[in-house]
Amino acid sequence: MNAASTHIDGEETLKLLAAGLVRQHRACVKAEVLDARGANERTLTPLALLMAQARISRLQIASGQLASADSLHRLVANCMLPLGEWAPALLLGVDGAWRDLRLIDPELRVPTLECRGLAEEGGNVDDLRENVWHAKVREELKRIPLERVRDEAYRTLRRFVVTHALARQAELDAAVSALDDLTLGATLGPLLAEMYTPAHAGEHGRLLERCAACGSRVEVRGGEPRCASERCRERAPVLSVRDVLTVEEAWLLKRELLLFWAEPGQVEIALFDALRAQRDDVELYPRQDEVDVSVGEGRDVGIDVKDYTLIPQLARRFDQGAGDLALYRRKIVVVTDRGTRARGLARRRQLQELLDERELGIEVMTVHQAVDAFGYRARTGRQ
Ligand SMILES: [Zn+2]
Repeated sequence: MNAASTHIDGEETLKLLAAGLVRQHRACVKAEVLDARGANERTLTPLALLMAQARISRLQIASGQLASADSLHRLVANCMLPLGEWAPALLLGVDGAWRDLRLIDPELRVPTLECRGLAEEGGNVDDLRENVWHAKVREELKRIPLERVRDEAYRTLRRFVVTHALARQAELDAAVSALDDLTLGATLGPLLAEMYTPAHAGEHGRLLERCAACGSRVEVRGGEPRCASERCRERAPVLSVRDVLTVEEAWLLKRELLLFWAEPGQVEIALFDALRAQRDDVELYPRQDEVDVSVGEGRDVGIDVKDYTLIPQLARRFDQGAGDLALYRRKIVVVTDRGTRARGLARRRQLQELLDERELGIEVMTVHQAVDAFGYRARTGRQ
């Protein structure tokens, strides 16, 4: 056999697969189904997904595995499992670094942060680079003349979304009109309303309970009620119910916003609130999300919270530099614990080593370390 024709690059295939899944998700959002056909019977499945499928099938056959990738549905369903459970060895990376990677979030059924990261790295989704909601928000913000108002409007909108995965009609109405008042016109208000779908459109019961810790809805799994947010369950294992909404008055945040804004945002806001309780010079999402939290005068300390499952993948996000963090004198990346504090510390160490190799001057901390480091100075009066 000709070596050139049989050589398949595992990492490139993984990036193609990730790009295919992101594109497919976009198509599903527009109500196209998997394996749909166009007018002339041509497939509407993203080319990247088909190319990845073909390569993975070949790899599976070559290694004597059952060619599960032969079925597109099976391949996409497998992507909800860790790669180590189904993918050919070549896709698992050096020392099996991608073994625990899930490309699709099994609960939210949307491409994970890691999947989007890989898709972007491959350059296969340049046109999708910005989250579509980010782009829409930025477009609307441009219409607000005053920078101070732009910043405040962004913060108000983002904070509402993060703390209201489930919202009452009255809360949503109040937030929409508060935004309209702030921006002196209907700019961000209608966009906020667009981020939600009425709960009665889904298959939920007549009453929806809301989690006291994070504002998500309570779901029943295996007969037991629990918060629908995985991140919240990690942080607060015991469920506490804030209130109960009727299905008629309830609005649910759209899925992709749950994954990319609400879930990671919980930690961003918890960190901000903890620091704000101890000092005044803390800002949430300064200059429309330049970083997640800034501390001190001007650009003294910039903090970005990162909620990735896989630390090596997170480190690769810094291959092109520190991004807007570079604007700050102290550049802090905060990793979420994803479990116990000990796990958080291990994740911190791993990321710090990987970032030190890149020489960007970035300090890595856990949430608790960041609160200790920057809340402390306010209590002692030092600057
Ligand atoms: Zn919760």
